[in-house]
Amino acid sequence: MFEYAPAPESRSIVDIASSYGLFIGGEFVDTRDGHTFKTISPASEEVLAELTEAGPADVDAAVAAARRAYDRVWSKTPGRERAKYLYRIARILAERSREFAVLETLDNGKPIRESRDVDVPLASAWFFYYAGWADKLAYAGLGSDPQPVGVAGQIIPWNFPLMMLAWKIAPALAAGNTVVLKPAETTPLTALLFASVCQQAELPPGVVNIVTGAGATGQALVAHPDVDKIAFTGSTEVGKAIARAVAGTDTKVTLELGGKAANVIFDDAPVDQAVEGIVNGIFFNQGHVCCAGSRLLVQESVYDEVLERLKRRMATLRLGDPMDKNTDVGAINSREQLTRIRELSEVGDAEGAQRWSAACELPEHGFWFPPTIFTGVTQAHRIAREEIFGPVLSILTFRTPAEAVEKANNTPYGLSAGVWTEKGSRILWMADRLRAGVVWANTFNRFDPTSPFGGYKESGHGREGGRHGLEAYLR
Ligand code: NDP
Repeated sequence: MFEYAPAPESRSIVDIASSYGLFIGGEFVDTRDGHTFKTISPASEEVLAELTEAGPADVDAAVAAARRAYDRVWSKTPGRERAKYLYRIARILAERSREFAVLETLDNGKPIRESRDVDVPLASAWFFYYAGWADKLAYAGLGSDPQPVGVAGQIIPWNFPLMMLAWKIAPALAAGNTVVLKPAETTPLTALLFASVCQQAELPPGVVNIVTGAGATGQALVAHPDVDKIAFTGSTEVGKAIARAVAGTDTKVTLELGGKAANVIFDDAPVDQAVEGIVNGIFFNQGHVCCAGSRLLVQESVYDEVLERLKRRMATLRLGDPMDKNTDVGAINSREQLTRIRELSEVGDAEGAQRWSAACELPEHGFWFPPTIFTGVTQAHRIAREEIFGPVLSILTFRTPAEAVEKANNTPYGLSAGVWTEKGSRILWMADRLRAGVVWANTFNRFDPTSPFGGYKESGHGREGGRHGLEAYLR
């Protein structure tokens, strides 16, 4: 392997303020009853900014601003006018993409290559796509005169901060709702930069409100009596708590929760492409992906070959400074997440699975975990059942297609799956039987705003993306 010269992206394109207020009613305001917290770069532990932890009075003010904007302006704004704002936001995101990519990478730890080529372009694409729907809601197959739900409370995680914001805000606004969004505690910065995009696009005040904070801020939003709909992406545990909190109320809920996706490699699969798919499936975004292909199922007859080529490929992955354009694997998002990944990996060792990772030097500061595989994994192992949410792959084998289906479906989750085979008929046969919201064939981790995304069982309910994604925001 040859050496790569450093190719760091400049951070000078983005101005990070030393402290931020909350974005309520179209402007940044000070907290009424909250505290402050800091956000750091997980790659260096450098403090990036001080944020406001919104308290119940702040959440109340944000919901009131969203309600006012809904009643007075947004619910009366025709779809074709709403579309103009969404197109404007989409264009601004594209124009300011470098700024967003750099900020996302600094705050989240993901490689700049991914934030630049995946997160930010998709966020912009989401707004373009839903802008197109805003004046065509009557043709979405959801009734001849569908109406917005009202004020949506939206809670998003730290793995794709800007992209999850776009998945939530674009369909909500297109359908005529106003929103209060809470970004994750460890990754609030791109949501606050997005607030400035709303100002730049001259979006009416109060249509989008952003309250930063931790779990308690999310809880206050869920509990607020004037919120008509909650959209949540995050852990199954918190998703269940939210479902319990809104049970018996009129609040609509969509939950996009965890996953333990099977990536199934048949013996006729093109091995090199499959290996790329395995790597992309589990090491993309450090494995902080709800639909990650974290359980590899390999047909026994090609197991040795696949394993050998996978190890060879893993040895070429470059881990390190996320701002370097050559980096493949960035930092783990937080110390807590690193601890969780370490603990579950140790459980894998204790259960008797064999751990392997390519030799790689971990940076001195920040949170790091090398791309890792476990072989000798059985279905009973916790590392085959629980979401690790890190760059850790559990490898199992199968002999027949029926066995592959049975093992793939043997999980409390059902968000995604991958199938690698040359046979089109086998892809269809598998897709029919896999209990997963998304089934990728000869590819993995592909996202498109036109395509619905969501889960079965403990992976949640409701769909985001596509025409289906409008349903959650209409009645
Ligand atoms: P959480 O589910 O706690 O976080 C998701 C969002 O919910 C964050 O904005 C969080 O705020 C907020 N939140 C936390 N508690 C509450 C509550 N009681 N009511 C309302 N909102 C709340 O995920 P974690 O960050 O704790 O990660 C834990 C595990 O969850 C990971 O290891 C991973 O397995 C899984 N996960 C799955 C994701 C997915 O996309 N499916 C995404 C993220 C995590 P805050 O960040 O401030 O705590």
